[in-house]
Amino acid sequence: MQVKVVKFGGSSLADAEHFRQVASIIGADESRRYVVPSAPGKRFPEDTKVTDMLYTCYEMVRRGEDITDIFGQIRARYNSIIEELGIDYSLEDELTFVRGALLHNSGRDYAASRGEYLNGIILAKYLGFDFIDAANVIFFRDDGTFDAEHTNAILGEVLRRHPRAVIPGFYGSMPNGTIKTFSRGGSDITGSIVARAAEADLYENWTDVSGFLMADPRIVENPLPIETITYRELRELSYMGATVLHEDAIFPVRFAGIPINIRNTNRPDDAGTMIVAQTDSYDPDHVITGIAGKKGFSVITIEKDMMNAEIGFGRRVLEVLEEEKISFEHLPSGIDTMSIVINTQEMEEHRDRLLAQICKSVNPDSISVEDGLALIAIVGRGMVKAKGTAARVFRAVADASVNIRMIDQGSCELNIIIGVEAHDFENAMRAIYAEFVK
Ligand code: ASP
Repeated sequence: MQVKVVKFGGSSLADAEHFRQVASIIGADESRRYVVPSAPGKRFPEDTKVTDMLYTCYEMVRRGEDITDIFGQIRARYNSIIEELGIDYSLEDELTFVRGALLHNSGRDYAASRGEYLNGIILAKYLGFDFIDAANVIFFRDDGTFDAEHTNAILGEVLRRHPRAVIPGFYGSMPNGTIKTFSRGGSDITGSIVARAAEADLYENWTDVSGFLMADPRIVENPLPIETITYRELRELSYMGATVLHEDAIFPVRFAGIPINIRNTNRPDDAGTMIVAQTDSYDPDHVITGIAGKKGFSVITIEKDMMNAEIGFGRRVLEVLEEEKISFEHLPSGIDTMSIVINTQEMEEHRDRLLAQICKSVNPDSISVEDGLALIAIVGRGMVKAKGTAARVFRAVADASVNIRMIDQGSCELNIIIGVEAHDFENAMRAIYAEFVK
């Protein structure tokens, strides 16, 4: 029998009605054997996620404030799910324990993790699945990094003993037994880790959208869904702001060659987006797979006559960035100029020092900084085979009267990145989309 690991996001488990929907999705395919839940998310736009309420509890205890009210709201959310589903189970002992631990300042990560822990217990009861506490199977090292190999060995062994189980997302434990969480949205990572350990055939990630779209729907009207995307294309797009899946969720399954299917809990018949290691297939009508972009970049331009002949010039500039602990995005260069594209926020507090250090290190003829750059990544595995993709991008942008400030094409021909003024960003995105999707 196939094994599928299914992860449900917070909005998919926000209330009893969604729990029913989740159970029906799991019940529809018996290979859906391992379930990774998030904490209850928002039921309506102004609602608060349980995870955020737990962070608030932690902060309030630290400030010596009373958490009776807010903890009461958390209790009520879980209890209403249990009651409405008619589950014969009381969460009271668990809730009392968690409350006591919060009051005794058991740590910020512990507080946050209880959202998925409690939700996991309820979901396991409702489905009739075993419950596996992530603290016993997901491990971090002393330095706080995730211990993939140790986790894979132990988790794999535990899963073999449990044919059907719920493993709460988002957290694991440190070598000293304390709880540690991944960064926000980290249940996606847990799902991926469980899929690898279970040697799953597929990792289904159920959320509230039917997969990835070819462009941001807030900018482009009704963008087409992406049916298939490779891990590498997805990395490029998510780095540039396409956020459906946590960035780090790709690694464990990619390592094991397990595809991810993004699905919509509220529209279970939609095929969603399939994320795969490799595929030759692409839709020749659309040479590109997707477009994404971000504002908020700055360019440092360094000029020096005969720069090209000065051995070690680039290294010395980059060394300054390294010392200041600033990462750069792109390095477009000319014969006597070198530009460095940096996230403006990251550079902000180091700005003066950074420029002074570069001057000291390479003694340029001039150095300047310009803010307000937006980057757009046009991503597509089809670009390798199609001629004239870059020309089409440039023509579309030019026709929209947008000036391109920077161009970068990776040698793998998977993407073309252009830099435009922030105020041209939306126009450029729409023009490129329209050029490729007719
Ligand atoms: N509940 C956590 C959060 O809100 C983790 C997750 O949902 O993936 O970030």
